[in-house]
Amino acid sequence: MNRTILPDINHPDFAFFWTKCRDEVLTVPICQQCGRKRWPPRPICSACHSPDYTWIEIASRGRIYSWTVTHRNMVPHSIQPTPYVIAVVEIDEPRDTLRLLGGLWETPPEIVHLNMLVEPVFVPVNDVLTLPFWRPVQRRHVIACESPVR
Ligand SMILES: [Zn+2]
Repeated sequence: MNRTILPDINHPDFAFFWTKCRDEVLTVPICQQCGRKRWPPRPICSACHSPDYTWIEIASRGRIYSWTVTHRNMVPHSIQPTPYVIAVVEIDEPRDTLRLLGGLWETPPEIVHLNMLVEPVFVPVNDVLTLPFWRPVQRRHVIACESPVR
């Protein structure tokens, strides 16, 4: 059996995130004291140091903030063939801007550009793990967002 490096879905700071990925929903912890969102998840709030948090669903679109292209894979049996893109995706949320690191799914590196609008795509790896990737928002969706028909 081919094996690759997979995240620990039972890690206490990330378990809920991985559970919601199976439902194809992106979530982040939000501080119950000051309302600041935490990413990556951590035991205390970086703004007010409160340990109290809950989880909320975040926006389903973001923009490419930065990226790199992997040409030589150092991970055995990677989910995607090389070359592939790893990107920092910036998501504007009320009061917070989140930056999530993730792979672009089946996206040729030559089309990637700064501020490219992307949306999550959820790729089941096995019965318990679904990984979130990103893909360019389809042009018809971009047009619908930028020029709503009234
Ligand atoms: Zn806080």
